[in-house]
Amino acid sequence: GNWKMNGRQANNEALLSALKPAVAGFDTIDVAVCPPFPYLSQTASQLADSNITFGAQNLSAQQDGAYTGEVSSGMLVDLKVRWVLVGHSERRSLYGETDEIVAAKTQVALDAGLIPCIGETLEERKTGDTEVVLARQLDAVLPVIERHPASAFVLAYEPVWAIGTGLTATPEQAQAVHAFLRDRLASSGYAAAPSVRILYGGSVKAANAPELFSQPDVDGGLVGGASLVANEFVGIAKAAVDSLGA
Ligand code: PEP
Repeated sequence: GNWKMNGRQANNEALLSALKPAVAGFDTIDVAVCPPFPYLSQTASQLADSNITFGAQNLSAQQDGAYTGEVSSGMLVDLKVRWVLVGHSERRSLYGETDEIVAAKTQVALDAGLIPCIGETLEERKTGDTEVVLARQLDAVLPVIERHPASAFVLAYEPVWAIGTGLTATPEQAQAVHAFLRDRLASSGYAAAPSVRILYGGSVKAANAPELFSQPDVDGGLVGGASLVANEFVGIAKAAVDSLGA
């Protein structure tokens, strides 16, 4: 669950309190929340006795130093952060993160033992550029990820037009793109391509999650808006257990 820049201490506490018992038995999948930086510490203590793990939404490509406003991988490790979102489309489009920056952040995350969830975004389905854009974004991080086992990172395919819009890719569209990404990993020589987890993101809800997660190459969801609503997020996690947890 990517909370983005939403929530305050009280809401977060209530949300986590509702999620903890509801997903307590979901041991065959990874359930994770990514709160804003200021609440990582609160999240860490609230989730200490839970099977829910947590991640950050960003990290610096630098280590320590004169980088005002940035947060380093070492700081995230201190807070027992497991995951970190890298290359989310909002970071790319609003904060100018290029493929090079995304690759550098992926490297820093892997070096620190954090598991980067690397966002691949599709700008132009209509013009038929789908595979060109995704191939470019994937190729930019390939040299970084290919030296690591499939358990060290997660890929997320998030069509920009589906993020926060209520529009979702059809299960068939998602499957076709996920298969394309997996094939490209395999054809580039990454032997563990079949085990790479490829998440779908873009208006995932409890209602559409079962169909999306039943696609053979859809290995989970990256959830924005619905992760702020306990029942929705639990419903999505349940769909993941049913389709993927076997
Ligand atoms: C996201 O931000 O990664 C996302 C998919 O958002 P939403 O679920 O709200 O579309």
